[in-house]
Amino acid sequence: MKYFKLPPAAEMKRAVYNKDKSYDGIFFVAVKSTNIFCRPACPARKPLEKNMVFYATAREALFAGYRACKKCRPMELTGTHPVWVKKLLDKIDLSAVKKIRDGELRAMGIAPEKARRYFMKNYGMTFHAYQRSRRLGNAFMNIREGSKIDDVIFENGYDSHSGFRDAFGKQFGKPPGKSAGTECIVTSLYQSKLGPMIIGAVSKGVCLVEFSDRRMLEYQMKTLRKRFKAAIIPGSNKYIEQVKIEIDKYFDGHLRIFKTPLVYPGTDFQIKVWENLKLIPYGKTVSYAELAEKTGIKGASRAVGTANGMNRIAILLPCHRVVNKDGRLGGYGGGLWRKQWLLDLEKNKLRGEAKSI
Ligand SMILES: [Zn+2]
Repeated sequence: MKYFKLPPAAEMKRAVYNKDKSYDGIFFVAVKSTNIFCRPACPARKPLEKNMVFYATAREALFAGYRACKKCRPMELTGTHPVWVKKLLDKIDLSAVKKIRDGELRAMGIAPEKARRYFMKNYGMTFHAYQRSRRLGNAFMNIREGSKIDDVIFENGYDSHSGFRDAFGKQFGKPPGKSAGTECIVTSLYQSKLGPMIIGAVSKGVCLVEFSDRRMLEYQMKTLRKRFKAAIIPGSNKYIEQVKIEIDKYFDGHLRIFKTPLVYPGTDFQIKVWENLKLIPYGKTVSYAELAEKTGIKGASRAVGTANGMNRIAILLPCHRVVNKDGRLGGYGGGLWRKQWLLDLEKNKLRGEAKSI
């Protein structure tokens, strides 16, 4: 998978030996002799070089049969970007106009290759592509809101009309000036307790909530672009901010019903399945067969399973509440460990409530 390329082995080994926290989220190190996997800077151990195996995601390490270290807890991300990424993002937010070049990255003590890899993995694009689309995204929003093109070009730091038109056309497929009122999908990376997520929204609500190490993500992005006939740009809007807060509360066990508006175009069948997902109560599970019956097509468990897997709004359209008939977990795009975690969270909360009554 091209998104999850690992740094060179020598660099990763160095990071492990130096307990370099800045590699957090870039790779995970598993130790053959102990069957445990860790964050690069785990304080607990210094594995022998010959025993180290590297993975790009916690999920891959888990599926390769390693257990998560109890000390550095690699399954629970810290909920933040590494310090160097935060600094970079702040810099971009302060001035979307000025391009940060490789030389400037180095001056900040950041290897350009490391930035490329982090942004590739977490945003699906290189750091420079992120900057470019962020800048274009700003311009696009300005035009949507009715600003004059001349002003937009000037304010977003483009040198010329033609340069701006070219860049704009490449990203959005239509010339600026015809774009007022056009939809775009803004996406934002969110470091949740359960790992990095990508959240997307359009002008009417949230349309994407996915764990960013999810294998389907690239396909989901493509479908979104097609369904909305809109480009995907990094950024945020009020729905994204709202749902981040809600997801946080949900993971902490303080929220059961989400209020953020959702937008989920699909085939009639998919939409029916997704609407029925919404009706499964917190802490309860149904089988694929039961969901098929509720959807009105008895016996179509397989088709329902597929539609369930195509769900783009994890957690809020709770596909994790659908399990196999025999009680086994079944599949989950975000990884079975996450499904188990979500089900445990909800069950424990319900149980806790029953106790206190
Ligand atoms: Zn560890």
